[in-house]
Amino acid sequence: MTFEPLGLSPALLRALSESNYTTPTPIQAQAIPLALAGHDILGAAQTGTGKTAAFGLPLLQRLAKDTPAKGPRKPRALILVPTRELAVQVSDSLKAYGRHLRLNVTMIFGGVGMQPQVDNLRRGVDILVACPGRLLDHLDSGHAKLDAVELLVLDEADRMLDMGFLPSIKRVLSRVPQQRQTMLFSATFEPRIKALALEFMRNPQQVQVAAQNTIADTIVHRVHPVDGARKRDLLVEILSRRHTDQVLVFGKTKHGCNRLAEQLETAGLKSVAIHGNKSQAQRQKALDQFKSGKARILVATDVAARGLDIPNLPLVINHDLPMVAEDYVHRIGRTGRNGASGEALSLVAPEEGGLLKQIQRMLKSDIVMQSVAGFEPSRPIRLDAPIPKNGGGGQPRKPSMGARPGLRPGEQKPSGTRAPRKPGSRGGHGKPADRSAHAHAGPKQHRPGAGRPQHPSRGDSRA
Ligand code: AMP
Repeated sequence: MTFEPLGLSPALLRALSESNYTTPTPIQAQAIPLALAGHDILGAAQTGTGKTAAFGLPLLQRLAKDTPAKGPRKPRALILVPTRELAVQVSDSLKAYGRHLRLNVTMIFGGVGMQPQVDNLRRGVDILVACPGRLLDHLDSGHAKLDAVELLVLDEADRMLDMGFLPSIKRVLSRVPQQRQTMLFSATFEPRIKALALEFMRNPQQVQVAAQNTIADTIVHRVHPVDGARKRDLLVEILSRRHTDQVLVFGKTKHGCNRLAEQLETAGLKSVAIHGNKSQAQRQKALDQFKSGKARILVATDVAARGLDIPNLPLVINHDLPMVAEDYVHRIGRTGRNGASGEALSLVAPEEGGLLKQIQRMLKSDIVMQSVAGFEPSRPIRLDAPIPKNGGGGQPRKPSMGARPGLRPGEQKPSGTRAPRKPGSRGGHGKPADRSAHAHAGPKQHRPGAGRPQHPSRGDSRA
């Protein structure tokens, strides 16, 4: 199938062809005709599915039809996003798709100065891509006006709710005209998303991609048991021994990620860290360095990595297991895309057995366990180990700094301030585990097709 039958304008088709998009992704094929017909859209899709074009192309087409000839313009489309990175990504995509249209895209997010954003708002905006917290600041100060909005998109709505943005979203939406088209995208149609849709949408048409949070069959998963204190040495050993081009390493905390990146650098492995404490400019620089190949290793927290358009990677390493089992799927989803082979390694300390058990329960399969010579753990991994509050397994954490005044949810959160989600609340940690991992460390490989989670929701990761 091509884009031609979907009803898009020649200017958009030209831009798509210049971007080398030949075939619509499933979410685009479903959503574009419905959105062009003016329906509200409730879409289950996450980053990597092509959802930005699914809402972006119809939005651009509608706005291009009646762009005022001259003069400063108030935003006619508002796209709410959870993170700065997603704002940049969405804005870049819209600029690329709309390169033959004369529409102005402006971003609003926290962690940077207000004045340049105020100046941009003054100059006139057609499409506003905004994080809810900072947008409220501009609304309260009178610099942003939403009374001309006719198109509203809530992108990664589940993530925005996870990050505590619901009150801000409601306040923003109270300033947007009722008469509008609304599109909401979320990884899942979980009840709170349906409730949001019910409150803010009119008879939305549901579109979704077949399977979410799936793990490609082409990925090899492996666990390397190791004592927590020796994880960094093992990581250096693995990365030094292998000549894989690009590696994404997941850590648990911001400080842990920084220390890891520093240690890898000391070992001669070019690395950059990305997490919520970094400024927007620092994060973008780190991502650019990784994408351009200047840095071979990107060390990230779950939240920082979410929403990033990271290319398909040959290798993902979990220095620490995620606290929420579904985040394992999100992390591993960075490799093995489009039929490419991929590898997922997890360094697991004995006290992380409970977390490993959670992941195996969710995958409905064990993961091959393979000790690395010289790094064998001092005791076996026990899958019935209780899950420590901080997940265990890494280097000791610094004590929490406590909540910082003036921070918006999700925008610059200090580490360790979020209460960990109760194990089992989403990760499926029901029955008590009964075996140590060594007891079933056999060759039974995870077979993604067999144990594919149907609709696990995205985890509430700490970053
Ligand atoms: P998204 O899920 O919107 O973040 O898109 C994920 C990636 O897929 C981005 O790098 C897009 O540029 C790319 N993409 C989106 N739609 C298509 C398409 N129809 N053909 C090829 N690439 C696409």
